[in-house]
Amino acid sequence: MKTPKGFSFAGMNAGIKAARKDFALVASDVPASCAGAFTINKARAAGVNDAAARLPSTTISAVVLNSGNANSLTGPSGEDDARAVQSAVAKALDVPAAQVVSCSTGVIGVRLPVKKLVDAAPALVGLLGHHIESAAEAVFTTDTRVKLAHRTLAIGGKEICIAGFAKGSGMVAPQLATMLAVLTTDASLEPAVLKACLDTAIDGSFHNLVVDGEMSTNDAVFALANGRAGGPPIALGTREFSAFLEAFTAVCVELARAIAEDGEGATKLLEVKVEGALDAAMARDLAKSVCGSNLVKACVFGADPNWGRILASVGARAGARDYPIDPTKATVMVQGLAVYRDGAPTGVDGPALRAKMREPQVCIVVTLVEGDANAVAWGCDLSYDYVKINADYMSFTTASASGVVQRDDRLTNYSPAFKRSLVVEALSYISRFTGRRAVIKYGGAAMVKDSLKASFANDVNLLRSAGLLPIVVHGGGPEIAKTLEALGQKSQIQGGVRITTADDVEVLEMVLSGKINSELVSLLNQDKPQAVGLSGKDAGLLRAKKRLGEGGGDLGMEGDITSVNRELVEMLLEKHYVPVISPIALGEDGGSYNLNADTVAAELAIALGAEKLVFLTNVPGILEAGELVSELSANTLRNKIETGVVTGGMAAKGHSALRALDGGVKSVHVIDGRTPHSLIAELFTDRGVGTLIVRD
Ligand code: ADP
Ligand code: MG
Repeated sequence: MKTPKGFSFAGMNAGIKAARKDFALVASDVPASCAGAFTINKARAAGVNDAAARLPSTTISAVVLNSGNANSLTGPSGEDDARAVQSAVAKALDVPAAQVVSCSTGVIGVRLPVKKLVDAAPALVGLLGHHIESAAEAVFTTDTRVKLAHRTLAIGGKEICIAGFAKGSGMVAPQLATMLAVLTTDASLEPAVLKACLDTAIDGSFHNLVVDGEMSTNDAVFALANGRAGGPPIALGTREFSAFLEAFTAVCVELARAIAEDGEGATKLLEVKVEGALDAAMARDLAKSVCGSNLVKACVFGADPNWGRILASVGARAGARDYPIDPTKATVMVQGLAVYRDGAPTGVDGPALRAKMREPQVCIVVTLVEGDANAVAWGCDLSYDYVKINADYMSFTTASASGVVQRDDRLTNYSPAFKRSLVVEALSYISRFTGRRAVIKYGGAAMVKDSLKASFANDVNLLRSAGLLPIVVHGGGPEIAKTLEALGQKSQIQGGVRITTADDVEVLEMVLSGKINSELVSLLNQDKPQAVGLSGKDAGLLRAKKRLGEGGGDLGMEGDITSVNRELVEMLLEKHYVPVISPIALGEDGGSYNLNADTVAAELAIALGAEKLVFLTNVPGILEAGELVSELSANTLRNKIETGVVTGGMAAKGHSALRALDGGVKSVHVIDGRTPHSLIAELFTDRGVGTLIVRD
C-alpha cells in the first residue's frame, strides 16, 4: 500500500505476547504536526493521559504502540512506564524524548513489562520501512485482520498521500472504540488545523461505530502531518482544506467500517442509515440505537427477518428522548427490500429476505417523514462468539509474572457442560471409526490465521486419538499468489485457466512443501511426534503428465495424475503416522508438476480405500442462494455443477467428490475451515455442520 513520504513503519514481537507481534512504531523523518483524539472514559490509560496532555504539537517524530497490555489502571507506575518506553524509542531514533508519544491496548490492570519493550526498541527502530501492514498487525488484540486505508489527492500540483491503520474489535461504542488508529500524511498542516480536520473526520466515521456499547480506557486516534509532499500549509476554510478533509474522512470511514466488520465474534457488517430526521444529531442517535440494539444484532446474526425490532428500537429511542417524530410513518428497507411502508408491513417475501440477510454486509435504511437530516452508523451482528470471547477473555488470557500474556484456546478450555455433551455424542462414533481412514484436504483459503492452523492440528490429533487414521492434503491458496507477486512473478491466468511456468512451479514447491507443509507438520508434532511431511514426489507417490488446456493449449507445469504409489503412505499408516501431503507431483518427464489439491485428495482417498473425504474450505459448505445445503446426493451435486450453482473452486471440489464417491469412498464432507473444530463437529456429531455428499 502507498504510504506518505517521510513516514516509515515497523511491527515486531517484543515478548508481551508469546509469539505474535505486539510492538509497533510509526516514525517521520522530520518532526511532524500531530493531533490526537482520545476516549472520554474517566478511567483512562496512562499513555492516553500523557498524549492528551502533550497534543496538538508541532514536533512529534514517532508514535509507539503496543498490544497485549493496556497499561491501564496499573497505579502510579503507569505513566513512568509509558515514558520509559517513549525514551527508549527516542534514543534509538536519536530524537528528544519529547518527540515521541505512545499508546497501548490489551489486558487492563497488569503492569506493562517495560524491560521487554525497552530492550526491543532498537530492534523495532531497525525494522522501520514500508511495513504499515506489519505495524497494523502488531496492534491486534482480538482483531482477526489487518485494517488499512489510504487515499491520494493533488493539492497545489503536489501529490498528497494519506494512509492509516487501525485496530479495534471490542468495547466499541458511544464515543470511540477500543480502537487505536494512526493516520499519516505528507501534507503540511498546522497542528490546530490538523486537529480540526481530525475532529470533523472522526465525527463522520469512528464516532458512528457501535460494536457492543462499551467504552474502553485506551481509545486513541493520532494524526501526523509532516509536510514532506512540499507546498504551503493547508489553511482552514480553504478549498484545499475541504479537499483534504474529504480524503482524510474517507480513510477514517474505511477504517471504521473495517473495525465494525471485525467486531468481536462478528460474522457480518451492519450498516444502519436513518434519513429524514429533524437534525443530524437525531439521525445519528437513532441510527446508533438501531445498530446497537441487541435484538436487531441477534436477528442479523441469525438472518432472521424480524424487522419489527428495527422500528421498535427507533420508537423506543424517540420516546426516551422525546423526539417529535412518528416512526409508524417511516419506511424500513432491509437489504434493499421494503419491509414496512405507508404505515403498514409490505408483506415481503420472507425466504428471499432471509437469503439476502446471509450476505456479509447487512444494510438497514429507516426513512422518516419529518425532516431531511441523514446519518449512518456501523456495527456488527451479535454472535455466540461475542459471549465466548468476552466470557473467556480474562480466564484464558493469562499474564505471567514476566508480563507475557497468552491466550489459551484449546478445546480443553471449553466449558465442562459443552465438553460433556460433545464427548457423549462423539463416543458413539469412535468405535465405528477405529482403524478407518479419512483424507482431509485443508484448503489454502481457509488457512488465514495461525490460531486456525493450530486448532486444525489439535483436531487431527484428536481424530487420531479416537482411532481414525487421518491423511492430510493441503492447498496453497493466497500464500502462493502473494509469494509470486512478491517475486514479481504475477500468476498468469488466460481465459480463466492458470498457466504455471517452470519458474512458478519452483515457487509453488517452495511455498507448498517448504512452508505450508512444514508448518503443519511442526504443529502436528508439537505434543507427540506423529506427522510426516511428504511431497507427492516422495517415493513416487504421485506421478503426473502435462495437462493440456482446451484445444490443446499449453498450461505449462500444470499436471494430471497418472498414477498413485501408495506403498510409502501404507507404511506410515501402519505405524499410525499422519501423512501430510503437498500437491506436487513428479512428472513422467522428471519435472515437478503442480496439481489441484482437491484432485489429489480424491485420488488418494480412492487409492487408500478411505471411508471419508473431507474438504475444509473458506465457506460453510455448498451454498445455494446463500443457504447452506446440508446434505445432497451425487446426482444432485452433478446437477448443481451443470446448472452453475456450484462454480469455481467449489466446482473443483464437486468433481473431486463425485470421482471419490465413484471410486468407493463412502461420504464426502465440505466444511468451514475458518470455524475452529468444525472438523470434529462434522465427523463426530449427528447433525454435522457443513455439507454431506453421499452416493445416490
Ligand atoms: P480452497 O482453497 O479451499 O480450495 P477455493 O477458493 O478453491 O478454496 O474454493 C472455495 C470457493 O468456491 C468458495 O470460496 C466460493 O467462492 C466458491 N464457490 C463457488 N460456488 C459455490 C457454492 N455453490 N457454494 C459454496 N462455494 C462456492
Ligand atoms: Mg481450491
